[in-house]
Amino acid sequence: MKRIFDNKNVRYHLFIVSLTLIYGLVATVADFYGSPWSSAKDLVLLVMQAGVVMCATYSLLMLLALCRWVFAVVFPVMMLLTTVMVWFRYTQGVVLTPMIVELCFVNDASMAFTLLSFWLVVVLVVSFVFSAFAVWIRFRFVPSPSVLPNVAVGLLLLLSFTWLIPPFVRPVRQRMPFSFYSCTREFLSQRGVVMAERPPFDHPAVCQTDTLTVVMVIGESLRADHLQLNGYHRATTPLLASDTSVVSLPSVYTDEVFTHTSVPAMLTRADAANPDLAYEERSFIDLFRKAGYRTAWLANQESVKNYVYFMNECDTLVYANSGKSLYVYDKWLDGDLLPLVDDELSRTAPLKLLVLHTIGSHWWYESHYTDEFRRFEPVIDTRIVSSCTDEELVNSYDNTILYTDWFLTQLIGKLKDSRALMIYLSDHGESLGEDGFYLHAAEHETLHWPACMVWMSDAYKAAFPAKAAALRRNAGGRHTTGFLFHSILSGAAIETDYVVDSLNIFHNGRD
Ligand SMILES: [Zn+2]
Repeated sequence: MKRIFDNKNVRYHLFIVSLTLIYGLVATVADFYGSPWSSAKDLVLLVMQAGVVMCATYSLLMLLALCRWVFAVVFPVMMLLTTVMVWFRYTQGVVLTPMIVELCFVNDASMAFTLLSFWLVVVLVVSFVFSAFAVWIRFRFVPSPSVLPNVAVGLLLLLSFTWLIPPFVRPVRQRMPFSFYSCTREFLSQRGVVMAERPPFDHPAVCQTDTLTVVMVIGESLRADHLQLNGYHRATTPLLASDTSVVSLPSVYTDEVFTHTSVPAMLTRADAANPDLAYEERSFIDLFRKAGYRTAWLANQESVKNYVYFMNECDTLVYANSGKSLYVYDKWLDGDLLPLVDDELSRTAPLKLLVLHTIGSHWWYESHYTDEFRRFEPVIDTRIVSSCTDEELVNSYDNTILYTDWFLTQLIGKLKDSRALMIYLSDHGESLGEDGFYLHAAEHETLHWPACMVWMSDAYKAAFPAKAAALRRNAGGRHTTGFLFHSILSGAAIETDYVVDSLNIFHNGRD
């Protein structure tokens, strides 16, 4: 026994195991904190996932500690960053995202000091003392093992968890310590997209009115056939259904069924014949700016490479929940956008465009509505989809629609006394057990029919009676999401050659 312990490889790996366990207790547990589960099977799955993250951490630490000096520099830095994120995870429900990395880059040092509190300083000191102790142990008691076999095994394991075995890659990269690398890389790659210039629209765009607020709400996973407005058997939109200024478009078809591909298509002239325009051209936001609108993007979803360019086309880009990821199961509500809307509406600019990217009815439905909207029960209580019944899934999903009904009504309340237009279009639908399909992970017809509605204030209808009448006439017809680019420009009274009448729901001659 003593001889085994004397083996330098064994002692090295005992040291790495201990470090991994301590790091896992601090970081991995924080990353999985709050994950909902309701049965022993769910718990086993969760523990297995955490185990994979810890195995990946083990391989990283195994490589890191091979050189004592590298370990002495990198490990304390890794621990300090981890401690900061764990602190904010427990105190504010925040995890590391590319948006948080962006905030770190764009904010100055004084901002960082405002986040420092006495107890955060205390835990940082404890964390640093622990790192220093680990480094001392490494120098004093842990012999360096055989380099080549350890590098080979460590690299193979690390690459397997972070690159080679697809089911492990995303869950591992989203968790500490790997999230430090992946979020920074994602932030830098998004910067690249934003900096890459796209040609401006060269034809004129002129606004025909002096005062107007246009709000574009990008919905999430809301299917048209679950709206009371469209004849669904449940009262999912009682508030909107009682507002006669709301016009639903029940038959809008989308080719794209994932957020990352549908949002760029919605905002640009891209269509089935020219899908690449979503990645080559600017969006309607650019034409709004050209026509004199002040533009703002209020985000309640993460920025991603496919549409970060358009977010940055706006004069203002504000995140309601920059520290939320789909691996966090705390409340993540669209109501958090409302104060940001107030800020934008209080600006003096007479022409305003607000783009709201909502979280709507995204999976882990329970995160996206408050308890008062839990009207359909029983609801889901585990994040493992296969452990939920279809009834629970539909109930939770419908509760998110009740919340969206409330959210949009709040928004309308802020706009109704001004000349204003709101267009809501969900990015795609959602499968709720039809043919054994769930969420929006796999192609299914249920994904292609997103909810869509338009609301006009009385002052808007008075100023543009022909547009209001045309909308009511056109609403019931079948459309594709390609209508949005042309219709929002027309609805905003922007005259430009880019508007195609046959795709414009505010156009009188459209049949
Ligand atoms: Zn989506």
